Amino acid sequence: MARPGSECVRVCVRCRPQNSRETGQGVAVAVDESAGQVALACVRSTEPPRAFTFDAVFGPEASQQDVYNATARDLVNSVLAGFNATVFAYGQTGTGKTHTMEGRKTSEAGIIPRTFQQIFNTIGASQAQTTFLVRASMYEIYNEEVRDLLSKNPKNRLEVHEARDGGVYVRGLSTFVVQSQAEIGAVLEVGTRNRTVGATLMNQDSSRSHSVFTITVEAADAAVGEAAGSFRVGKLNLVDLAGSERQSKTAAVGERLKEATKINLSLSALGNVISALVDGKSGHIPYRDSKLTRLLQDSLGGNTRTVMIASVGPAACNHEETLSTLRYANRAK
Ligand code: ADP
Ligand code: MG
Repeated sequence: MARPGSECVRVCVRCRPQNSRETGQGVAVAVDESAGQVALACVRSTEPPRAFTFDAVFGPEASQQDVYNATARDLVNSVLAGFNATVFAYGQTGTGKTHTMEGRKTSEAGIIPRTFQQIFNTIGASQAQTTFLVRASMYEIYNEEVRDLLSKNPKNRLEVHEARDGGVYVRGLSTFVVQSQAEIGAVLEVGTRNRTVGATLMNQDSSRSHSVFTITVEAADAAVGEAAGSFRVGKLNLVDLAGSERQSKTAAVGERLKEATKINLSLSALGNVISALVDGKSGHIPYRDSKLTRLLQDSLGGNTRTVMIASVGPAACNHEETLSTLRYANRAK
């Protein structure tokens, strides 16, 4: 029998192609898409590779469309049906998190722009008696501080508040009502630009922050004949996590070390929440241990759906980080 949390959390791994700096170097990762397996060659070649099995795995040839269809497509349908959902990209900097989530224009578009398309296509094809309201916001969490990515002031720091009903929200976060794929695309563009500009302005590295794009869809069905009207709200969080690399490589000190410690804490808090949800035995889910898990509390667990996409690079020189990413993902299953 499936474990209680196992249907609501799916864990996938994507391995990007070798880049020009890596060609000629050793490849340590082998992906078997049909078996859902990733094998990592051991450092000592006398030992057999370690294999991990996931809900889905994507090799270097997998297209953005393949990844979207197997990860986010069903979640978007459930958001349109009034449920909450979250997609995370986890992994070392340079392994393809932003490529998977945002991608580039047109054929290389990633999950976020593809969700825009699916949402507005579905709305366009829906019955006339249903009216939709779509809203978008985008923020980042840097050093456990929340920054509005759609605000004119990039240094704008926002507070996390608890509502009377126990829900958690960011006070003062900019939210835009959007009426088309183009409009919500423009919102993403502004947020992405502000993320880069803000990081530069404050001498920070945007790979050290979590970015969260949130889409809320309200749908109201008017009463027709005997049938009563109905109303539903679903929320989708699309999260590009901070790089998971450990700091030994960059020998962080001072501010950088403090920042690294906070990233490690929040990534491990997320791992703890997901594994407690999947385990299903623990009554206590430690949402309160980080800003990220507090803010996503209503979209993780319960009747929500979560997909984690762990990204890895193929190169043997990243063996240690790749192993740590596969272990993190393995624990979330
Ligand atoms: P991260 O966000 O994890 O730091 P990026 O998404 O910026 O990593 O990816 C690093 C580089 O690798 C970028 O130049 C990106 O375009 C490229 N890349 C990542 N994944 C793929 C892929 N599946 N196919 C082609 N190029 C990729
Ligand atoms: Mg990135």
